[in-house]
Amino acid sequence: MSLRLYNTLTRTKEEFKPLNPENVRMYVCGPTVYDFAHIGNARPVIVFDVLFRLLRHLYGAEHVTYVRNITDVDDKINARALRDFPNLPLNEAIRNVTEKTANQFFADVKALGCLEPTVQPRATDNISQMIEMIGTLISRGHAYVAEGEVLFSVPSMPDYGRLSQRNLDDQQAGARVAVEAHKRNPADFVLWKLSSPEEPGWDSPWGRGRPGWHIECSAMSKRYLGEIFDIHGGGLDLIFPHHENEIAQSRCAHDSAVMANIWMHNGFLQVEGQKMSKSLGNFFTINELLESERFGDKAWPGEVLRLAMLKTHYRQPIDWTVRALEESQANLRSLFAAWKYPSTEIELSASNELESEFLKALADDLNTARAIGLLLEGATDLKAGKLEELLNLLGISMLAVSASEEVRNQLSKDVVDQVCRLVTARLEARKAKNWAESDRIRDELAAMGIAIKDNKDGTTSWEVKR
Ligand code: AMP
Ligand code: ZN
Repeated sequence: MSLRLYNTLTRTKEEFKPLNPENVRMYVCGPTVYDFAHIGNARPVIVFDVLFRLLRHLYGAEHVTYVRNITDVDDKINARALRDFPNLPLNEAIRNVTEKTANQFFADVKALGCLEPTVQPRATDNISQMIEMIGTLISRGHAYVAEGEVLFSVPSMPDYGRLSQRNLDDQQAGARVAVEAHKRNPADFVLWKLSSPEEPGWDSPWGRGRPGWHIECSAMSKRYLGEIFDIHGGGLDLIFPHHENEIAQSRCAHDSAVMANIWMHNGFLQVEGQKMSKSLGNFFTINELLESERFGDKAWPGEVLRLAMLKTHYRQPIDWTVRALEESQANLRSLFAAWKYPSTEIELSASNELESEFLKALADDLNTARAIGLLLEGATDLKAGKLEELLNLLGISMLAVSASEEVRNQLSKDVVDQVCRLVTARLEARKAKNWAESDRIRDELAAMGIAIKDNKDGTTSWEVKR
């Protein structure tokens, strides 16, 4: 089966051909660990986890290397360390912030069903690799030193801007030249900057300082994946400047035609039409969705959050609503019911066809929306083991769902009231011989995980499907 992926570099869907099928290599930009991750930050983590799972399925688990970095050097981290641990030496305070935040991130994305990447390198463990790459860029005439900074010289790369489809003139028009007079060109960006004695820093040929953000990913991807690798991913907002600058650094350091063959970008998770972001303040952290009662007055199981995320194609925007989460919860209940009580008459041909359609959907640029739709329609055509296997490719574990379902056994009063209302409405529909409406209500209840039984005495009873 051929895997097709949308490549931001060419703006087309392309057939995926790994450089080496024995070692398929993917890099995704990871979090800057200064604060809790919000559910928008979880989108690339979940999307590329599905791709990781699919690649493992297609090429064999031992033939895929997935690297996602941890950015643990950043001025936002320094500021947070000063605020939260004013009495500690800065180095220690920084370590507290980054350790705590990284561990929180690991726990959050685990609860969202994500596998651990093969390697999760930290920027601070790769400073010497960055220094070496910066040295190469200077010696090749692609970087220069000015006022305590090492800067990448954007005009030194004739085809800079291919990924974001910007040219140098566009950028110069918008740049604030006055503030950055030491730059030879306003588009030049920082590779290394000097640190004051209080700031974290490492010795380098250009003085004690710290790296710019972009050079981290160039150095770490080279170390763990090589000079050219297969897939590089992240959110849409990373195309410019971050990924454009990663490409510039890596290609100029290695004198190569590409850094990665395929560049993939997920769309934004939005709240009322706006990108969820820390700066707008319109965010929910993964942790509070999982644990508190802030969004729709309840805590949401990780699988519900994950399914809600994957029901939209990764390149489309998602509007994050309570209603969508409720719908995903009902979907999981019906999948759970089909898994727990599989039909005894399963036709092999229907099951095979569903499986093949499901895999085709995923291989078509990760069309999880279609893949999930197929499962919701056809779950009862599958044996429990097969359903479980396909859900696993999406990172949805029936074991995790069943744990949440145990909790649900104590249905809330609201749900019980709603079920009673629906059962009564259905009885009325039947009295009026409105069979279509009666069937519709039965389906609605089934989607909530409720089975109903019409008794001989004309009453209807119901139970949670188990
Ligand atoms: P940041 O911490 O802002 O560097 O973001 C970490 C990752 O999350 C990057 O890949 C971003 O593109 C991605 N990201 C941030 N906000 C959103 C959002 N609202 N929707 C989808 N992805 C996002
Ligand atoms: Zn990066």
